[in-house]
Amino acid sequence: MSSVQEKMYDRRDSSLRFVNGPDELDFEWNEYKSSMAAMSCGHAVTPMSLTAWCRHLLSEGICKFTCPVERKDNKKKCDAEWPYTEVRRMALLTPEEKVEFEEKLARLAAGEYCDVKQLTEKEALISAGSA
Ligand SMILES: [Zn+2]
Repeated sequence: MSSVQEKMYDRRDSSLRFVNGPDELDFEWNEYKSSMAAMSCGHAVTPMSLTAWCRHLLSEGICKFTCPVERKDNKKKCDAEWPYTEVRRMALLTPEEKVEFEEKLARLAAGEYCDVKQLTEKEALISAGSA
């Protein structure tokens, strides 16, 4: 075991929507101690499980953060796309993790493995502004 401290949600944080478990991203049965909070799609995560899942996606060369939870009604993957800003907030990324994630995202974007919508929108804004 590493000595990395487990990240936990602050129960007093009113921007989070707390839900009762199970932690739907805890695929490795780590049984994190944090409270569970709902993502925008409604599925429950802990900061640790969300960080681990998104790190896994990045290591696979995937730069879209999608929800892997199986829906109970039709047994299909939820597949909701979480913006990085939501992941950053909900995973309680540490400064080191932010650097790690953002470097990986930038590298993936540069390699054209993914279409980074934010970038093209930004470029469009810039060219519109300079016209
Ligand atoms: Zn979901």
